[in-house]
Amino acid sequence: MAYPNTEETFSLLKDLVSIPSPSGNTNEVITYVEKFLAELEIQTRRNRKGGLIATLEGKDSSRHRMLTAHVDTLGAMVKEIKPSGRLKIDLIGGFKYNSIEGEYCQIETSSGKKYTGTILMHQTSVHVYKDAGKKERNQENMEIRIDEKVHTAEEVRALGIEVGDFVSFDPRVEITPSGYIKSRHLDDKASVAILLQLIKQIKAENILLPYTTHFLISNNEEIGYGGNSNITPETVEYLAVDMGAMGDGQSTDEYTVSICVKDASGPYHYELRKHLVRLAEEHNIEYKLDIYPFYGSDASAAIRSGHDIIHGLIGPGIDSSHAFERTHQTSIENTAKLLYLYIQSDLIQ
Ligand SMILES: [Zn+2]
Repeated sequence: MAYPNTEETFSLLKDLVSIPSPSGNTNEVITYVEKFLAELEIQTRRNRKGGLIATLEGKDSSRHRMLTAHVDTLGAMVKEIKPSGRLKIDLIGGFKYNSIEGEYCQIETSSGKKYTGTILMHQTSVHVYKDAGKKERNQENMEIRIDEKVHTAEEVRALGIEVGDFVSFDPRVEITPSGYIKSRHLDDKASVAILLQLIKQIKAENILLPYTTHFLISNNEEIGYGGNSNITPETVEYLAVDMGAMGDGQSTDEYTVSICVKDASGPYHYELRKHLVRLAEEHNIEYKLDIYPFYGSDASAAIRSGHDIIHGLIGPGIDSSHAFERTHQTSIENTAKLLYLYIQSDLIQ
């Protein structure tokens, strides 16, 4: 069996980004992952906060390893219904209003009804607003135009829309012949797709892993506490698989696997990092070491919450993260290859 199978990973990723899952409303995407694993005859369990855990028993069950990737994404919530029938929103996760200007969106009511709309500056029309381009992109000036004939708050409420309804953004997923995937929410659904493909491969090859290995599909990472629980006392190493951050001065790119040495939470475990680099070098996997300045992961959240673990962070490089994201198939492949070796390697302690 060819591994990694990019075509399969891409099609899985396309499915994942197409299921709306802002932090706080992830049941549908978790159900999708649950079904995917059930088809592989892998048992899963949900934690109370809605994440999913799959465990593969290993040769040694006295020491465990844990890997995590998150399916929750950025999104928004209806904050106010304006007298005009437009919606004011509150953001879920860390991003700026300019990255959603003009974006198509979906509003999901608490009874499950779905409406579409567009996120716009109030002062968009250049034929009406002289300073259309100059106004600040913020909560005050940006609003949702619902695709329904509504002109008052009452008419909007009659649709069933209320404060607290979840808003998700159109992923606009596209795969190019040159091997790129462009979509919102590649953070971190690209890594979820990689982990699911990895589990499928382990199963297909009938590999007995050296240690019992848990895969946590976390559902609250964007708000800081996705992967800081359900860590067994036997867990020695905990590896977060999450996007590598690109920009000025960053070494991460869209073609290699990014190994994070430090982020806003501090350095990741030195020996684990060196172990990952060794594996990459021995098997000609292209990697980059990098520091992410404004970043925290589920692994650092686990450390912060008091777990005595060896923590690490690797992932595919994602351009324009938390906005108009893109990566290349080679970055996904290099990440998948490193993970395949890592889960079969010895613990460093
Ligand atoms: Zn992420």
